[in-house]
Amino acid sequence: MLAKMMLPLKEKDKVIIKKLLTSGCCARCVLRFCCIGVPDAYRQNRQETLSQLQAFISGPEDCSMKSDSQDAVVPEPVSKKSKLTVDDPVEESSVCVLCLGVLQHLSDVTQAMQHSCWLHVKEHVRAKCCVLVRDDVIAVKEAFKWIMQGLLAQELDGVAVVAKSALEVSVGFTHPETDADCHFLGSTCPDCFKPTKNKLSVFTRMAVVKALEKIPDSKFTKHSPWPPSRPATSCTPPDVRCVHASVFVAGRYNKFCRSLPQTPWLIDGERRMESSVEELIATPILAAFRAGGFNFSSSGREDVDVRTLGNGRPFALELLNPHKGKLSEEDMKNVQQVINTNSDKIRVRDLQMVSRDAMSRMKEGEEEKTKSYRALVWTLKSIQKDDIAFIDRIQDLTVDQKTPLRVLHRRTLAVRQRLIHSMSTSFVDDHHFQLSLKTQAGTYIKEFVHGDFGRTKPNLCQLLDTDTDILELDVQSVDVDWPPVLPE
Ligand SMILES: [Zn+2]
Repeated sequence: MLAKMMLPLKEKDKVIIKKLLTSGCCARCVLRFCCIGVPDAYRQNRQETLSQLQAFISGPEDCSMKSDSQDAVVPEPVSKKSKLTVDDPVEESSVCVLCLGVLQHLSDVTQAMQHSCWLHVKEHVRAKCCVLVRDDVIAVKEAFKWIMQGLLAQELDGVAVVAKSALEVSVGFTHPETDADCHFLGSTCPDCFKPTKNKLSVFTRMAVVKALEKIPDSKFTKHSPWPPSRPATSCTPPDVRCVHASVFVAGRYNKFCRSLPQTPWLIDGERRMESSVEELIATPILAAFRAGGFNFSSSGREDVDVRTLGNGRPFALELLNPHKGKLSEEDMKNVQQVINTNSDKIRVRDLQMVSRDAMSRMKEGEEEKTKSYRALVWTLKSIQKDDIAFIDRIQDLTVDQKTPLRVLHRRTLAVRQRLIHSMSTSFVDDHHFQLSLKTQAGTYIKEFVHGDFGRTKPNLCQLLDTDTDILELDVQSVDVDWPPVLPE
């Protein structure tokens, strides 16, 4: 059990304490609005807190409230004393109007009620010429966390309970009785409550907070009078879930197959290809970490019929709710081995655990990076070695690419300027040659070769003065120096 503690109350708190207790707030909510940010104050017995509050408001002669802290109890002028004395001790409401019992019976809260109380307190304090910053009021969530940490530490017999940890316990409360209390905000601030596809209700926490910031105080108090009516019911028993924070795994992949999409290819809900790069990589990793799901990202992507050779393409996986938070280097090597033996369509290297922050390295400066490609090109006109040799001398060619027809359904129509740093050719026969290119990331190579009906300018057809088409394309290198290369 926690030792009885001195509540660090200030003289100006008296009026708040009295007002809130008589309005049906619980003792712990009173502490919150007195801006008491001492976790132990919330962990002590509720009855004890209540009697201390009652003693405090019934007069300064009560010595239990004296504290050695400098700013704790400010002596007040004698003339004010009589006003603050109460005749009857103020009892605590059975279901607190503010936390709806969350801090009482350790059970949610409507944002609107919090706001109402805030306005109420602000008004009274303003009257006393004090400045109170809203951020100073302790949120129910904070107080709840403090109480729970204390209780959990007791239950777990001295095991340290820390607030910032990879294991998160989420606690959800509902209170059907007051669920509709914030609905009037819908008519006063319709802009804040736009329906979205995935949300069940427009009254999300964020939308309510936004509306409360906008609504004039006078309008709010009209719709939501103080004190609020006392709720008959407490919050429903909480929905408790334990979730482990995401862990991140990165590496590089090669793709050796011309019929493998990077992500599952679905058309009208039906699968077009039996697998994908993403699934081949993620399945063994998911199993090793016993994770509930994943998000896959990579430094660019290749088309289904394009191979990725060389050192491969950097990728990262966010593993959701893993039951294993860490894998040793050796275990990671084994997982990599499993991926590589499961399929000859892909190969993975440099598989390692990374931090969420490090992951941003993959995406940063993506546009400035260079990529190398090799394309097998067909020409309509018959060619000689000498006909293509001039291409090798072209340096830093700027091309204007109107969004390709094949991606127009998912990318906005625009003209993007890209740089082809250098090219080199290798003659195959009188209608074919290999074209190697080093380009700025984001250059559409296929469109540069066939011209995309003149949407890419200049293009290879113009340069060679004949129709050209691309038969095969390989990514030779993706020049992103992340993640770190590991010894094989
Ligand atoms: Zn309360």
